[in-house]
Amino acid sequence: MSATQGQPEQHEFSAEVGRLLDLVVHALYSDREIFLRELVANAADATDKRRFEGLTNSALALPENASIRIAPEKDKKELVISDDGVGMTHDELAQNLGTIARSGTRAFGEKLNAAKAEDRPSLIGQFGVGFYAAFMVADRVDVTSRKAGADEAWTWSSDGKGAFTLTPSTRSTPGTDIVLHMKSDAEDFLDSWRLRSIIRKWADHISWPITLREVNE
Ligand code: ADP
Ligand code: MG
Repeated sequence: MSATQGQPEQHEFSAEVGRLLDLVVHALYSDREIFLRELVANAADATDKRRFEGLTNSALALPENASIRIAPEKDKKELVISDDGVGMTHDELAQNLGTIARSGTRAFGEKLNAAKAEDRPSLIGQFGVGFYAAFMVADRVDVTSRKAGADEAWTWSSDGKGAFTLTPSTRSTPGTDIVLHMKSDAEDFLDSWRLRSIIRKWADHISWPITLREVNE
């Protein structure tokens, strides 16, 4: 599985991921804003993890100003969520974002499948739906990540329809950028006021600074 000359590698999602993606994208439409809760939670987890690893290996230590950054790019219809966390290697991108290793997610998928439509929103509170919630609002997701302690970076990219690519990339510091190419009916999530209210509602307990880049509207 090595990439030559920057060519994208093609990978298939595991069958379970395909099913879960379908469920998340179609069953939770009215609660789409939770995509941001999930992505910010992942950024915070990754930052916690790097802080912890940095305690015993100073080469991995967090920068002093570690933060989680949310940047709407209205012209490009993109929302970018960045962190200074532990990052992912090539193999971790493929494993963590391309397969379902977590029993919690599998249980969620099963419950969601069995639930009546009107009961589905309440299930969200009980289970994190995870990274795939990004595909509720985005028709393409690019994840560029550089593992703390490594020089190379990789970009994982998918339209959430069965396959993803991995392409060699660059990133000046360790951490992860999630670029959401927003669906045309989800562009209101690029509005600062909307983002601010979602952050206030869902990310109040996050222990790392969250910054929202203000754009001229
Ligand atoms: P969970 O957070 O419950 O493990 P997710 O679907 O939200 O499940 O994420 C799957 C995995 O992808 C995480 O466990 C983590 O290993 C990896 N991951 C997701 N986002 C990031 C990130 N910003 N930085 C590093 N790893 C991440
Ligand atoms: Mg998560």
